Amino acid sequence: MDVLRVDDRLTGEERMVRDTVRAFTAEKVAPHLASWFEDGTFPARELAPELGRLGLLGMHLEGYGCAGTSAVAYGVACRELEAADSGLRSFVSVQGSLAMAAIHKYGSEDQKNEWLPRMAAGEAIGCFGLTEPDRGSDPGDMLTRAARDGADWVLDGAKMWITNGSIADVAVVWARTDDGIRGFLVPRGTPGFTTSDIHRKLSLRASVTSELVLDGVRLPESAMLPGVRGLKGPLGCLSEARYGILWGAVGAGRSCYEAAVGYARTREQFGRPIGSFQLTQEKLAWMEVALGQAGLVALHIGRLKDEGNVTPQQVSFGKLANVRAALDVAREARTVLGANGITLEYPVIRHMNNLESVLTYEGTQEVHLLTLGKAVTGLDAFR
Ligand SMILES: Cc1cc2nc3c(=O)[nH]c(=O)nc-3n(C[C@H](O)[C@H](O)[C@H](O)COP(=O)(O)OP(=O)(O)OC[C@H]3O[C@@H](n4cnc5c(N)ncnc54)[C@H](O)[C@@H]3O)c2cc1C
Repeated sequence: MDVLRVDDRLTGEERMVRDTVRAFTAEKVAPHLASWFEDGTFPARELAPELGRLGLLGMHLEGYGCAGTSAVAYGVACRELEAADSGLRSFVSVQGSLAMAAIHKYGSEDQKNEWLPRMAAGEAIGCFGLTEPDRGSDPGDMLTRAARDGADWVLDGAKMWITNGSIADVAVVWARTDDGIRGFLVPRGTPGFTTSDIHRKLSLRASVTSELVLDGVRLPESAMLPGVRGLKGPLGCLSEARYGILWGAVGAGRSCYEAAVGYARTREQFGRPIGSFQLTQEKLAWMEVALGQAGLVALHIGRLKDEGNVTPQQVSFGKLANVRAALDVAREARTVLGANGITLEYPVIRHMNNLESVLTYEGTQEVHLLTLGKAVTGLDAFR
């Protein structure tokens, strides 16, 4: 498998990251995933310090206890984490690329020193509150408000679908002010700030997803992120997280592909392994092609990012193409496994259901299509 041998193009450091994360997930995560998914739980508090020790939290950020690796090394880590489960990769993405990246990019020195080292070590967990119950794809029209009251800020509103929401020690919350959209750090336990988990999900079940309610939450001036104003603040972080997703999707797809190949070799019908039938081989060959292409896209965008040349449109391209490819692979792999494909004994339907969330969050498929459409025509079709 991996006919193109894309990984031969990785550096020694990047391969070391790959092997370390693979060994970690095989030992500490994979044996429990089906149960976590079935039970709808994710042991974030236990896993976070281990992920921190491996340097995976805020991995591509410089200083403040972060590992400061290349973008490709970070991407490879996301790929291996998501080969285990999209929920695990989501935890790492939200912590590092959304919450920590917001503080790292836009925070004051005091804010960075207070939060980043503990978050990098997995001692403190962060979340990123942008989406609202009535504002998803159009966050620029958000309803959450932050108003001045003397030297303080008072926040009112709600955020929905927030990964790590109820377990976070600090929430990065985006709110509209008289001065444009600003980011605020809301520590857990602040009066007026409450969270509740979203239940009955059939996707990303091994991941905490919550609603945040802000009811007259009073914060000092020092809680505001001073370094950015406007929608470009949250969008800058989303571009970081989307980058991790375009790698992660390759991992989820690969896990489904491996399960399908293994099954096709051993499952016999009509007196032969089903992998010997041309129709099955066609499915597997298309999976190989889709994942080879997705792997190349990820590596190309990663190298551009390391050169400092990547554009948001390129990241949209990668997120759109690779999540679509992984979802197609997952659905096709599911058919190869027949009835066994619908059980948690195999990873395929878990990945398939997870990828439905991955298709929607960090910009839906439609949003990225519109982004690319705008890039090629110069015409904005968003509204
Ligand atoms: C498991 C999970 C975890 C998440 N974690 C977070 C998180 O940590 N932080 C956070 O802030 N958010 C998070 N989200 C929210 C996610 O980013 C949003 O769900 C996403 O942005 C889409 O918003 P929406 O669900 O409100 O859909 P809507 O925006 O209501 O869209 C509904 C449909 O309409 C389409 N649509 C919208 N506008 C247009 C248009 N102009 N043209 C064509 N079609 C359009 C969309 O593409 C979609 O198909 C999470 C979501 C999930 C499912």
